[in-house]
Amino acid sequence: MAVHVTWTTFSVLADSHRPPPPHPALDPDAPPALCSQTDPEVFFPEKGASIRPAVAACFACELRTACYEWSLAVTDLDGVWGGSTPRQRIQERARRATRGNDTAAEVAA
Ligand code: SF4
Repeated sequence: MAVHVTWTTFSVLADSHRPPPPHPALDPDAPPALCSQTDPEVFFPEKGASIRPAVAACFACELRTACYEWSLAVTDLDGVWGGSTPRQRIQERARRATRGNDTAAEVAA
């Protein structure tokens, strides 16, 4: 059976083997991540529990936009990152794939 490898297939394979980028909080010049000063359980709520405390912390965090972009670049990420849930990140990736050229500023607004 022949396997047809298209450029798209190759790109997807290449992406899946690319290591995830470092979280922006690891930059020595970055402001502190508020999640490092908050109960980590808040960012990984049990099913049915509120995500509001995590989202509130994220929206007060100076790293939110960079963290949100990072979370979009890392697939299969659990929990709240940059104020977003896994489902929201899936939706945003799909939206960007469809629309193409959106910037972080447009998303953060
Ligand atoms: S935006 Fe949220 S998850 Fe990201 S570093 Fe800040 S508090 Fe942590």
